[in-house]
Amino acid sequence: MAVLVTGGAGYIGSHMVWALLDAGEDVVVLDRLSTGFRWAVPADARFYLGDVGDRAILRQIFAENDIDAILHFAGSIVVPQSVAHPLDYYENNTGNTRLLAAAAVEAGIRHFVFSSTAAVYGDQRDDTPVLENAPLNPKNPYGQSKLMSEMMLRDAAAAHDFRFVALRYFNVAGADPLGRAGLSTEGATHLIKIACEAELGKRRGVDIYGTDYPTPDGTGIRDYIHVSDLVDAHLKALSYLRRGGEPLIANCGYGRGYSVLEVLEAVMRAGGRKFEIRYGPRRPGDAASVVANSTLARRLLDWKPRHDDLDLIVETAIAWEKGLAARKAGDLRSLQHRL
Ligand code: UDP
Repeated sequence: MAVLVTGGAGYIGSHMVWALLDAGEDVVVLDRLSTGFRWAVPADARFYLGDVGDRAILRQIFAENDIDAILHFAGSIVVPQSVAHPLDYYENNTGNTRLLAAAAVEAGIRHFVFSSTAAVYGDQRDDTPVLENAPLNPKNPYGQSKLMSEMMLRDAAAAHDFRFVALRYFNVAGADPLGRAGLSTEGATHLIKIACEAELGKRRGVDIYGTDYPTPDGTGIRDYIHVSDLVDAHLKALSYLRRGGEPLIANCGYGRGYSVLEVLEAVMRAGGRKFEIRYGPRRPGDAASVVANSTLARRLLDWKPRHDDLDLIVETAIAWEKGLAARKAGDLRSLQHRL
């Protein structure tokens, strides 16, 4: 039996592949390498270069491998891009998830774990940790495209011999503590990535988007979750489904928020160097505070986070960022070698 990981060459997907291999699973990766990297996929996983929206490659994968579960990470995740190109997001996130789920049902693959997002909630009324049954009002096509996918999966599970877990990610950050995987995407916009780049002198300082939020220090608060804990929630979701668990939608966060300033301080502490901080206006569409209530995942999936520590998140992110240029240069060399 094998597990198919779509987007396995990307940030979270590559951590997933390592964790599955560590757990003794047989792993197949499908990735079109639009933002991911071939070198990010461990040699022990079988790699298919292609698009989730390509039925032919899905059929080929299902014919060549005994897949019993799909972990679907492939997708587009840049919010402003989703506002500018909504139909691309609906195609890549919603349309391709539909296609993959239909192919799974057709092939008799019954277990599906889906990467969803806290963006399905939209604005929160206050800063209490958000529960899964909170109102769903995505503020952008990205969140909408993920919410529509959840709905399709729910309906498919009601009609077919097909069960899913959708995990709503909060702010995923950090890198594999063993240094095997990390965030390598070009032009990333996420706070911890940007702050690590500033700490290592790869960019000049960090702009804080908004200092007048109704939070203790006026900057935005987020629930930063270490990528290894997130990946562990997927392993738990996989065993839950294999045990016959019912369809489930669950939050993945720690239930504790940090402000932008607290994050920047943690990065300077870890790197030992001060960088410039510029205080700027709010970024359109940002909420003041987004924190998860993850009681459901802890209870039903028996999920026990082990890296709930902002300093550890930041230290692993910096360690990865330091080695990144060398890794990318290595990939270029191996590519030239193959050509
Ligand atoms: N943020 C910031 N400067 C940056 C990037 C992000 O002040 O250069 C803030 C942003 O306004 C939010 C928090 O950091 O309050 C996390 O933003 P990120 O883009 O990492 O994730 P999001 O919560 O938007 O998904």
